Amino acid sequence: MNKITLKDRTFKVSIPELEILRQVRRVGTEINQDFASEKPLFLVVLNGAFVFAADLLREINMACEIRFIRFSSYSGTERSHEVKQILGLDVDIKDRLIVVVEDIVDSGYTMKQLLETLAKQQPKQIHIASLFVKSDNLKVNLDIKYYCFKIPNDFIVGYGLDYDDLGRNFRDIYTVID
Ligand code: 5GP
Ligand code: MG
Repeated sequence: MNKITLKDRTFKVSIPELEILRQVRRVGTEINQDFASEKPLFLVVLNGAFVFAADLLREINMACEIRFIRFSSYSGTERSHEVKQILGLDVDIKDRLIVVVEDIVDSGYTMKQLLETLAKQQPKQIHIASLFVKSDNLKVNLDIKYYCFKIPNDFIVGYGLDYDDLGRNFRDIYTVID
């Protein structure tokens, strides 16, 4: 399936599943090497990171904990500056080694806000593992230590990522063409 249509938009395969899995394994290996003797807490950001997290975390070969968090947005005036509340963080993160697992960092505002909120609880370290980074769009200073792909500023779906709640189930990554 080279092309898919979701609602009013058409998408074309841009990163096939095998290439995604290759990069996910690479990142998993890096994390294994860096945290060999620690017990990290992975915080998976729902919904978009659920497929990435399932593949990444099965590459991790040390004892670790996994939790799932999500944002609920308070209605704000400007979308990019919405204040987001974190749901599901029902664990003490003080002095813990945290790895945030995210689908995509675009402007970086979401990640920045998440890191600031987590930092208030004084974890030992916080690292970011993101499937994608749209580096040309980054508006804030973020140290993204682990990422699978840097991509241009095109809208993508598949492998957990959605367009209006559709498309998360597709194995490959698709880029909008129409
Ligand atoms: P940021 O706060 O970094 O601008 O936005 C990050 C969020 O925007 C991601 O977690 C994701 O939900 C959404 N996003 C940004 N770019 C894309 C994209 O190309 N495709 C999809 N499906 N979501 C995107
Ligand atoms: Mg997301």
